[in-house]
Amino acid sequence: MQRAHRQQSRRTLGWSAGTGTAPLRRPGAVGRGSGAGGESGHPLSRGRENTALFDYESGVKAAFDTIVPTLKQVSALQHESDFELRAQRLAQAELGFDLPEAILSDAWIAQLDMPQLFAWCVFETYRRYCDQFYAQDPLVAGDADEFEGFLQACGFHTLDISPCADGRLAHLVRYVLRLPHRSVRRKSYAGAMFDVDDSIQKWVETEMLRFREGRPNTADAPTRYLKLVAYHHSSVDPEHAGCAAHGSDTRRAAAAGLERLQAFQQAIENSFCCGASIDLLLIGIDTDTDAIRVHVPDARGSIDLDRYVDAQALFDATCRMTATQAASLLGETVRGCSPDVASGMATLIERLLEHNLSQIDYVRGCYGQQYPDGDHAERFIGAGVGFEEVQLRNLMYFAYLDTVEEAAQDLDVGVKIFSALNVSRGLPIPVVVRFDYHGRVPGARERAVTHCQRVAKALFGRYAELAGRGLLHVMQVVRDCNANASIEVLECSVNATPAAGAH
Ligand SMILES: [Zn+2]
Repeated sequence: MQRAHRQQSRRTLGWSAGTGTAPLRRPGAVGRGSGAGGESGHPLSRGRENTALFDYESGVKAAFDTIVPTLKQVSALQHESDFELRAQRLAQAELGFDLPEAILSDAWIAQLDMPQLFAWCVFETYRRYCDQFYAQDPLVAGDADEFEGFLQACGFHTLDISPCADGRLAHLVRYVLRLPHRSVRRKSYAGAMFDVDDSIQKWVETEMLRFREGRPNTADAPTRYLKLVAYHHSSVDPEHAGCAAHGSDTRRAAAAGLERLQAFQQAIENSFCCGASIDLLLIGIDTDTDAIRVHVPDARGSIDLDRYVDAQALFDATCRMTATQAASLLGETVRGCSPDVASGMATLIERLLEHNLSQIDYVRGCYGQQYPDGDHAERFIGAGVGFEEVQLRNLMYFAYLDTVEEAAQDLDVGVKIFSALNVSRGLPIPVVVRFDYHGRVPGARERAVTHCQRVAKALFGRYAELAGRGLLHVMQVVRDCNANASIEVLECSVNATPAAGAH
């Protein structure tokens, strides 16, 4: 089973294109409408998409999770006479790339530097994961082209989403809501407490583009900017595994999200004339099952914390129906929740709920009643601005920041999580410092590079004790988001150049 998992990882990350290797478990809804067992299968679930999403998710995660067992085998070989050759063969077979010769060749002097080798492998796997994402577009949505038109038909020209920065919500856009990731804006914040000024800036930019360039539609079209906040809770362990930023208090998380949304709306209304306003939507996610609850607004756009549609209940109520019956009950439930909801808003919510039924089915089919990793299980920390490729749950701990000082609390939480995940096992904390820039803007790359260097230096200063013990490693990368290219690696604290042919 593990072997199949590893082969899958190589195939998904673009190594030799083997075929016929089955992933560990496929989603239960492959045969559309096979809900007889009640465990999985739903008439509105998209089985084929579930299979593709699972192949991708399990492949990427296996690529990271194969590192430790492979390095254990490498370690066992280090006193053999042909150690370097055998280690490289093993790395190629299991990981799909060569290990850095400099680290291997020093092994005869002292012990093999496993923490360095581990960090190097995580960074190399991350680089390959990015390369694959930008070159092959593995998460492209079948309805991506149609989405913009659909959104405008619902009365919105932009969908701007702020989830909590918790790694268990990193897959919100492409998995939980099944939206095309390039057609919506995502900016995560601890506790979903988005920056109102940053959102105002985005709103101004959006309206300016409509006015000047007619993108995505002209300024006179009667559509609005829609801001969505996603808070989260845990159905399995509500007292402890909810949103850390709100003390695992679901009500508090929801109320804080709503308050921030209202502050943004108020700011737009007070700052701009001519009836300028935005629309708001609040959703909650159960991080154990990925089921959403949508707080359906009324005709005036008001949101009530106690008035929502729960996708989990909807799933259970409709899983034995025909697709037509299920879709019809879905529509009735949304309108029943808030009878005077605007019709465009109702249509959008229906689609979000219908998409979420596929995700509930996905989790049930692939993992059982709930995720086995209900808590943190991230593979690395990402700090900076960017990370469009991270659309997978529990892969990366996000710390969006411009400076280490401003995000000190988020980073401390990340380091604490990784002290338990990695340092306790003698493994270093791998941090990717990343700043995306607009290549069309003169000097933008240079500023991104300077940003990376400053943040990396501040990280080593703040966590000097860990760094001194070799338990903190940083790779600095930038990316031109206008070029649709992969990341550019600037520097890495692992003191090794890759083996010839590895890059
Ligand atoms: Zn949270």
